[in-house]
Amino acid sequence: MNQNKVYPASNDESIGHAADILKKGGLVAFPTETVYGLGADAGNYEAVCKIFEVKKRPVFDPLIVHVSSVAQARSLWSKVPKVCETLMEKFWPGPLTLVLPKSEQVLDLVTSGLPTVAVRMPKHEAALKLIKVFGKPVAAPSANLFGYTSPTLARHVAEDMGEKVDLILDGGSCAVGVESTVLQVEGEKGVILRPGGIDTETLSPFILLKESTSTFKQKPSAPGMLESHYAPHTKMVLLEKGVSGSKLEEMVKKYKALGVKKIGFLAFKSVPHKDFFDAFEILSVKGDLKEAASNLFQAIRKLDKMRLDMMLAESVPSEGIGIAILDRLRKAGA
Ligand code: AMP
Ligand code: MG
Repeated sequence: MNQNKVYPASNDESIGHAADILKKGGLVAFPTETVYGLGADAGNYEAVCKIFEVKKRPVFDPLIVHVSSVAQARSLWSKVPKVCETLMEKFWPGPLTLVLPKSEQVLDLVTSGLPTVAVRMPKHEAALKLIKVFGKPVAAPSANLFGYTSPTLARHVAEDMGEKVDLILDGGSCAVGVESTVLQVEGEKGVILRPGGIDTETLSPFILLKESTSTFKQKPSAPGMLESHYAPHTKMVLLEKGVSGSKLEEMVKKYKALGVKKIGFLAFKSVPHKDFFDAFEILSVKGDLKEAASNLFQAIRKLDKMRLDMMLAESVPSEGIGIAILDRLRKAGA
């Protein structure tokens, strides 16, 4: 990685330098509690264009705008329902993105022409400082190439797009490890467009949640729901719940009979038959879902470098942040 571009996120001088780059319309990758973001001045059309170019992201997939204050968020929305005041108070800074009707100051490019804009306040000292010093909202999707596994280390960003970003702030590994929960608020009700760092049980005391009725496949105007996403280069298959022991053995034999030579295993707590696999990664020996989430993308990227023919991913319990992990595994394997 080009070390000249990587600056320690804990250093105020680095933050100042990064903010200057944003002011000049450049791109800065920065750590958040979820994953690394690829940031640009949300009010600068050319700068936002660069995000789409560098990520090779289709322009129909809108960006999340990151703020360091509630006042900044308000300036981006045309109307803020009361329930959102409570959500911001309870969950910001944190991994909750709120989608509301946009104000006139928001560029159509940022929202892919939608009448709504997604906004969140990250819970990471360096991210908050960067936005504060820059003084304006920062548009920032995850700092990976479109469709590929998200970055949770500065090195991941450098590997994916090091040549094309102006500066990378290195804040170590991301604590949450999966993206924010994207919540669209309509009136006083909410629809979860993407499960993420804040689970349904935690949200539901504060807002009435409706079922999402569309998927990207059915309705391209509802983004954030693409079928295939977060995918490694190596083919990945998510195992059904409870596939282990003899069932797993049978499955591995079937793949080997089909000519699949090297198989990797992404385990939740333990690897049942180490000799079956050419490589494996364990998400959390303790079986802790939060730990599993924080290790998820790093583990997938590690396996993806092992020149395997395929990887099998074990299912995780479908509760709490496990729902966001399963969503990523399902899409990575789609
Ligand atoms: P990321 O690229 O990881 O930052 O993901 C941002 C997610 O937020 C994507 O899945 C977007 O489709 C979704 N998103 C952003 N803005 C909107 C919006 N206005 N309406 C619905 N989803 C949105
Ligand atoms: Mg992303």
